[in-house]
Amino acid sequence: MSAMQEAFDRASGKKTPWNPSRKATARVKNPLPAPTSCPHCNGAVDLVNNSAIYGREYGEWPYAYACTAAGCGAYVGLHPFTAIPLGTLADGPTRAARKRAKAAFNPIWQSGRMTRGEAYAWLARALGIEKTEECHIGWFDVSTCQRVEQVIRESRQ
Ligand SMILES: [Zn+2]
Repeated sequence: MSAMQEAFDRASGKKTPWNPSRKATARVKNPLPAPTSCPHCNGAVDLVNNSAIYGREYGEWPYAYACTAAGCGAYVGLHPFTAIPLGTLADGPTRAARKRAKAAFNPIWQSGRMTRGEAYAWLARALGIEKTEECHIGWFDVSTCQRVEQVIRESRQ
């Protein structure tokens, strides 16, 4: 199916995850590989139009990697105009934990106290992540997200 989709999209010139933009792909630093199995249930993963998740297409690049196992519901979006996942597949609890971690973290750089890069460098140090470029909330599991909230709370004391 995806080989056929790839041939079709290339022939039509339409940019899709099966015929991604080379420029956009080259711009993504530290790309994660396309997921093949779900980290939550080990189910198979499919590249889908996100209308399969939301009931209608959502966003300028409406695609996602989604777990095919019934009842799992884990998915992750893609960097625009690429086939590169934004992070690891997130199930409901992981999505909620990442949302809370971002809500705690984003004000640090949005306030202008630090640049976004400085804020991530600080967070990486606080979490003991060696490389700042591997510090992405979209890559974190529930417990790491909880540590994000914790280190930010502690930094305020
Ligand atoms: Zn799953």
